Amino acid sequence: MTYRTVNPRLILQALGITLPNRTNSKGYWSILCPFHNDNKPSLNLHSRDGHFHCFGCGESGQLWRFYQLLTGKSEKEAKKHCYNGGRHGR
Ligand SMILES: [Zn+2]
Repeated sequence: MTYRTVNPRLILQALGITLPNRTNSKGYWSILCPFHNDNKPSLNLHSRDGHFHCFGCGESGQLWRFYQLLTGKSEKEAKKHCYNGGRHGR
């Protein structure tokens, strides 16, 4: 199966996460981590492929994992949402 990469910005905005307009020089958005009590942005999420890492709590993974942690959906549902735009792909 070929996965279509979804724009991470669309996924995050749908989750209510406000993104900075600019990425850092390596293409990461720095955002407040939703997985621990964060008071300064310590989670880096890549603007192109969506992988992430938090320097505060150590949570990391691909975009589907981020989505899964926030929504409580199954791995299968999370991957489908993140790689096929929430629709069944070909
Ligand atoms: Zn964290």
